[in-house]
Parts: sequence; structure tokens; C-alpha cells
Amino acid sequence: MNASVEQQAFRSDARDWLAANFPPALKDKSYRALADKDPALAADLEVWRSRLAGKGWGAPTWPAEYGGAGLGHPQAKVIQEEMEAIGAFNPIPTLAGMGVTMVGPTMLEYGTDDQKARHLRGMASGEVRWCLGLSEPNAGSDLASLGTKAEDKGDHFVVNGQKIWTSGADISQWCGALVRTDPAKPKRDGISFVLLPMDQPGVRTRPIPLISGASPFCETYFDDARADKADLLGELNDGWSVIKRLLQHERQSQTSAGRRKLDNEEPLQDLAKRYVGTDADGTLSDKDLRARLTDNLMAAKAHELTIARITAEARGQVKVSAAASILKNSATRVAQTKAELKMEIMGAQGVGWDGEAYEADELASVREWLFGKAASIYGGSFEVQYNIISKNILGLPETTQKG
Ligand SMILES: Cc1cc2nc3c(=O)[nH]c(=O)nc-3n(C[C@H](O)[C@H](O)[C@H](O)COP(=O)(O)OP(=O)(O)OC[C@H]3O[C@@H](n4cnc5c(N)ncnc54)[C@H](O)[C@@H]3O)c2cc1C
Repeated sequence: MNASVEQQAFRSDARDWLAANFPPALKDKSYRALADKDPALAADLEVWRSRLAGKGWGAPTWPAEYGGAGLGHPQAKVIQEEMEAIGAFNPIPTLAGMGVTMVGPTMLEYGTDDQKARHLRGMASGEVRWCLGLSEPNAGSDLASLGTKAEDKGDHFVVNGQKIWTSGADISQWCGALVRTDPAKPKRDGISFVLLPMDQPGVRTRPIPLISGASPFCETYFDDARADKADLLGELNDGWSVIKRLLQHERQSQTSAGRRKLDNEEPLQDLAKRYVGTDADGTLSDKDLRARLTDNLMAAKAHELTIARITAEARGQVKVSAAASILKNSATRVAQTKAELKMEIMGAQGVGWDGEAYEADELASVREWLFGKAASIYGGSFEVQYNIISKNILGLPETTQKG
């Protein structure tokens, strides 16, 4: 069979499997919408999770022995496209927290056989949720100045310190944490990456409310917490190499601004016509808005095409590299501008917080706009991505502010 015939056959099999296994009641829903608003569909969601996990399609490119399906990226893309076509979604990356998108891919590269055997299946099935303890009150963009200490006690480390903005810490079973293992060494050289269970007496979490209403992250305290040596990811004092790779995976997972088609989202141009009105020829009546809307739609298209080009140049393999910083910033810009436009289009209906005067979509748009602010902060801020682009892609000097 030649490659395109093989791909066609795979698409047809994927379509058949999805038609037979995706619970129709979940059509056009997203995991987040279901979890927040529709507990009645929880049983269907669990059926869907377990079927997907059984097929290895929660993390389709991972090796089958670790709970994946051993597929190539082109096939994974086919699955995603076929899911989108029938209004289906993959809940496993959300259920696994930082597992499938960040810790797992990094573990596949840096982990021991024992770590892979113990941890990856739980991530790929969505049954074990992971959080990431990187940021501290005095170590955000300047992550290398982190102070959380891990003391060597022979077969384990004793961890003391505070992390902040730890997404999902209060609902996670495991944490991947960056800790200082050698305070005598220069900043980046004395750091290690350890994995530790959250369900132990030495770990405490405190949720931090967000302006958008939800509370997705916590302050996390380690007071004599235990991390086994067998769970040191990468070499001792070489956590900086591990984390650089993990952050590239994080940015890679934050690059899909223009591609969300779930929850029957109405195209922005239709929304604008509905709220603002049209001229006699059917075009949007506000010409200035029309121009800015067009700019955003073009930026979204350019972003999508850039991803497609990078993927094509990498021959279908998703190559994690410094280019993820470019895509993260462009995805952020497109999504934030879109949220601003949506609010403007809805006018007074776009700024309500609750009450019967507002449609569900209108209330959602305010929260989307507020939460969208976080995108230029998490995973490394907008400005820090520009620093990475200027240094690692453009080859500019470390700083332009000397003297
Ligand atoms: C929704 C959300 C979820 C998060 N989840 C997690 C998580 O799960 N785990 C975790 O560990 N962290 C998490 N974070 C934290 C996130 O990684 C940090 O907020 C981020 O790295 C920025 O650090 P900071 O907040 O300390 O800002 P700072 O580093 O204090 O930066 C403040 C401002 O100064 C600018 N700045 C700083 N340094 C430079 C520089 N060298 N050049 C130019 N400008 C600079 C920044 O761009 C920013 O605008 C999350 C954050 C958010 C918003």
C-alpha cells in the first residue's frame, strides 16, 4: 500500500471506530464545559475516556507499552480531524493535567525505564493527574533563582519551600517540581527536577481565585515533603536541561489559538453581523470594525498556515523547538484580540457577569476575555518569549541594555 492509500485507509478506520465509540450525547461539547456545567453526562464522559484510553488515543503518538497507540504525527492529526468532524474531543490531556502535554513527553526523553513504566500509563489513560511546581514568589520569569531546597537523604530527598501559581495542585496526584539540590553551585547548575506524590503529609495547597471567577491554581507548600531518588527526572543538578525541554513542550501545547471548533462556536463574522447589523448588501455595517475583524481573521489564518508549514517542513513530525515561542506569542495575540473584538461586538451584553438579561454565550465571553489575559503570562510571558526568539532564533546578543 502506498502512503496516501494507507493514510486513507487509516482515516476510514478511525471514522468507523469513532462513530461506533463516541457517545452521541457528548457531541459538540468540550471536557471543560461538561465538567463545569453538566454532571449528568459524567457517566458518558467516563465511558468515552476509558474507550479512548483502551485504544491508546488519549496520547496516540506514545509507544503502546506506555499507554499510547504508537502512531505517527500524521495519523494523530487524522484522529484529531475526524474527532472535530463529528463534534468529538479528547478529554485525556485535560484529565491528566500537565501529564500528557508536558511531563510525559519530557519523561519519554529523559526518564528511566522504571519511571516510564510506573508513570506514563496513568497519564495516557487520564487516571492520574499531574501538576507542575516551577514558579515561586521570587522566581517567575527568572526561574533559575528558585529557592525550594531538596536535601539528599540517601534514597530520597527532603523538600522544603513554596511554589506559586501551581495549576491544579489541589486536584493532582503527582507534581513535577524544580528544586535546588546544590546551593553552592551557580544558579542554573544546582537545580534538579523531581517527581513527588501530592498525597503526603509534607504537601499543602491553597487555591488562588482568579479574576475570571475560576480558581485553577494554588500556592503549594512543601514542609519536609519526600521525593524518592528513583523519581529524579534527568541527572542530579541538570534539572535546567530537563525544564528547558519541558517548557518547549508547554509552549507547543499553547499554539492552537485559531483552531477551536467545539461548543458550536459561532464564527466571529456571523456574530458581528447579528449584533451590529448589516448594510443592504449584507456586509457588516461598521466599516472600522470590519477592517479590524478582517485583520484578526487574517492573523488567525496566517498562524494556522505557519503551523502547517512548520509541520510540513518537519515532514509531519511535530518538532519541539524554539519556534514554539513564536507560535505561542502569535496564538496569544490572535486569541486575545478575538476576545476583545467579541466583547466590543456584544456591546453592553458583552460585559455582564450573571443574571437572566444575558445569554450563556455572552456570560462566557466575559470570562473568556478575562482568562485570556493569562495566556501572555503562563508558559513564560510574552516579553520573555521575545527574548528567547531574539537570542535563540535571531542570534541577537543576550541583552541590548548594557551601558
Ligand atoms: C493561568 C496561569 C497558570 C499558571 N500555571 C503554572 C503552573 O502550573 N506551574 C507553575 O510553576 N507556574 C504556573 N504559572 C506561572 C507562570 O509560569 C508565571 O506567572 C510566568 O512565568 C511569569 O512569571 P511571574 O508571574 O513571576 O512574572 P515576572 O517574572 O515577575 O514578570 C513580570 C513582568 O515583567 C516582565 N519581565 C520579566 N523578566 C523580563 C525580562 N528579562 N525581559 C523583559 N520582560 C521581563 C514579564 O514579561 C512580565 O510582564 C501560571 C500562570 C498563570 C497566569
